[in-house]
Amino acid sequence: MFKALLVEKDDDGKTHASVQELDDDRLPEGDVTVAVEYSTVNYKDGLCIGPGGGLVRNYPHVPGIDYAGTVESSEHECYKPGDKVVLTGWRVGEAHWGGYGQKARAKAEWLVPLPEGLSTKQAMAVGTAGFTAMLAVMALEDHGIDPDRPEPVLVTGASGGVGSVATAILANLGYKVACVTGRPDNADYLKDLGATQIVAREDVAETVKRPLESEQWQGCIDAVGGPMLARVLGQICYGGSVAAVGLAGGADLPAKVIPFLLRGVNLLGIDSVMQPYDNRLRAWQRIASDLPMDKLEAMIQPATLQDLPRLGAEILKGQVKGRVLVDVA
Ligand code: NDP
Repeated sequence: MFKALLVEKDDDGKTHASVQELDDDRLPEGDVTVAVEYSTVNYKDGLCIGPGGGLVRNYPHVPGIDYAGTVESSEHECYKPGDKVVLTGWRVGEAHWGGYGQKARAKAEWLVPLPEGLSTKQAMAVGTAGFTAMLAVMALEDHGIDPDRPEPVLVTGASGGVGSVATAILANLGYKVACVTGRPDNADYLKDLGATQIVAREDVAETVKRPLESEQWQGCIDAVGGPMLARVLGQICYGGSVAAVGLAGGADLPAKVIPFLLRGVNLLGIDSVMQPYDNRLRAWQRIASDLPMDKLEAMIQPATLQDLPRLGAEILKGQVKGRVLVDVA
């Protein structure tokens, strides 16, 4: 038996989530069984704990789009009992049962061995949000950001999971980091993570009026999308890049093409779900080396399985700060 957050659907189509004891034989198919130690809360988890947002294929369902733990049994040559592993993506927690249980079963190719120096707790303090932030940093690096340049890298949705981890990594790598937040009370939190400048959300929230503004940022990690992303494109320095990660502010992109044509600005799409294995490994190794663990500790909000329905609702309203760490024990 193992404990899990089970989401069930009533005959009238309403979903409700509760912590239940489940038999091991209810675990889905897969070649590696993992004793889950930690999971976390992402925007998609908020949807899957609640009405599903079209992501969940079958009920009853165990959400949790990421987890870290220890291999309990394995039918795959790459893993043996006792190995520490982390899982993000592959539609786990949506189309497949996820990490909100003390046990999970996965295909071996979805797992990544934990890099040296990173615990399962730290891996889930990072979670999909932090992993995606690292992918965004790597994409900007591949497109020429340079810590010796005077212009900052802009991070939008900065108090959230992606934004907090991106800020801490960029600052540690020596970049000046400008953080956009709609919560001025979080300014000290962001400065402690390494922000050198705080930008009020309303200063970049307005729809594009002039397609080109003064060149302010050498790059941007954008967790917000919508009018803010469109606006930021016109503020990027010549040849700079924006890594588009999220849609906390909307899925539309009411932008002009002028920044692409006259300033050679690059818009880089970042997907964490289907990332090839080698890139996943590289990103987790970079997290272990480039994310200061004391900064990560400052982002953590501890939680248990029982807290998940409340936290799921909060993340959908943009009210979560930093990273929620769910101890499933
Ligand atoms: P969080 O909810 O933790 O953070 C989002 C932040 O965006 C909030 O903390 C808030 O920051 C800001 N925000 C919220 N609502 C608005 C709004 N209406 N307008 C402007 N800013 C807003 O989410 P995550 O950091 O975990 O994820 C961020 C986004 O990235 C989500 O859309 C998520 O779905 C997406 N994502 C994409 C992935 C991928 O593979 N591409 C992987 C992981 C996440 P503040 O209060 O500081 O302004």
